[in-house]
Amino acid sequence: MRHFPVFLDLNRRRCLVVGGGEVAAGKVQQLLRSNADILVVAPRVGEEILALEQQGKLTREARAFMPDDVVGCALAIAATADKEVNVRVAEAAKADNVPVNVVDNPALCSFIMPSVVDRDPVQIAVSTGGASPVLARLLRVKLETLIPASYGRLATVVREFRGRVKQRFPEFRQRRRFWENILQGPVVEMLFAGREAAAVQALENELDNAEPTDLRSGEVYLVGGGPGDPDLLTFRALRLMQQADVVLYDRLVAPAIVELVRKEAKRIYVGKRSDSHTVPQSELNALLVELAQQGKRVLRLKGGDPFIFGRGGEEIEELAAAGVPFQVVPGITAAAGCASYAGIPLTHRDYAHSCLFVTGHLKDGKLAFNWPALLQPKQTLAIYMGVKGIDVLQKNLLQHGMRPDMPAAVIQQGTTPNQKVYAGTVSTLAKTVADQEVKPPSMIVIGEVVKLHEKLTWFQK
Ligand code: SAH
Repeated sequence: MRHFPVFLDLNRRRCLVVGGGEVAAGKVQQLLRSNADILVVAPRVGEEILALEQQGKLTREARAFMPDDVVGCALAIAATADKEVNVRVAEAAKADNVPVNVVDNPALCSFIMPSVVDRDPVQIAVSTGGASPVLARLLRVKLETLIPASYGRLATVVREFRGRVKQRFPEFRQRRRFWENILQGPVVEMLFAGREAAAVQALENELDNAEPTDLRSGEVYLVGGGPGDPDLLTFRALRLMQQADVVLYDRLVAPAIVELVRKEAKRIYVGKRSDSHTVPQSELNALLVELAQQGKRVLRLKGGDPFIFGRGGEEIEELAAAGVPFQVVPGITAAAGCASYAGIPLTHRDYAHSCLFVTGHLKDGKLAFNWPALLQPKQTLAIYMGVKGIDVLQKNLLQHGMRPDMPAAVIQQGTTPNQKVYAGTVSTLAKTVADQEVKPPSMIVIGEVVKLHEKLTWFQK
């Protein structure tokens, strides 16, 4: 991140705008919203600035720029059509440590101006670091449509209650919890529906009735993060990820998803591979209980779905026994995610009427399957954790009578930009894994449906 975002208090501070045309007028309009004391220096000005001058909204000096103009300014903006003048403004400002923005010349800027969604007092500023102002503007438009105008009103109401809430809940964490409850509850709905008096009354009631102890108890969120693509998170997953105090995540959770956890949350990596458990499961279970009992909101973030080969059940059994409140958020399991992104329907009227999810994790070098169950006709097999034991798997399937030419695919890092799909047959599985140096996490899908991959592939096409 090259540009550090901040919001400047320009109230009655002198700001210099050099130039009098349309571009300068746009900057002046932005500055006016911050109640800045604006000095425009330009020999000639366009209609817009002239009108503002006549309304007494700015001061203008009808002359060329002089380096001394920047002295004492909170910031300077060079918006003339004359490149040389712009350079001189930038140099003078830099010499005097005045932040400067030169229109259309990022190299000369010491700050850049974002695209702003204005819901005063809420301000949302978007920057692409100068890479593409058009993209920033498009993003702004998107946000404009997402964020109701009443957010400004909401922030104003909240501001009026801040002091009292602080008095009532001196502890920061309780206060934060109180506001999170309010800002996601009926008070907001009332306000958005235009029932402001009712909203304020409801907020009063909440303030009188909320017990500090209620706001203290911890909770565990067992959340499925899906197979890798952050777009596949559920709304609830994202919401809980945004309000956690601490997050415990493992190797399977894609970095792009961990990125979406609330920035202030403490991160604990409990990296788990099939062979080397960084934190033993029993310790992990105990840690979840302990953190929740300290009053923390604990996010246990898992890859895929927490209840599918995720040991989520074991983790919450312990929570239930200790009386710790918890919620479980399902995620898209790897079989579903990888199959979709590989264009392989797991069931199909012509080819598969059932789908079996199994783990190919070896125990003492063996796979303890009821093999005939795996060989049912018109059935798709979705095999998790099968890469390491692929030789054993392939050998056993063939020995138990599976057709060697049964279509089979290996999907590595499914749903991510690194997804690889290797389609072949059961007899080529082990060789594919070896030749392509396939690594976990990878899913193996076996069945007639794999034939459709070529026709239905869409991702990375
Ligand atoms: N709870 C998880 C599964 C955990 S077991 C879920 O519901 O998806 C871990 C196995 O899941 C990996 O060994 C691999 O077989 C599979 N897996 C998880 N993410 C994957 C991905 N992005 N691509 C391919 N396989 C994946």
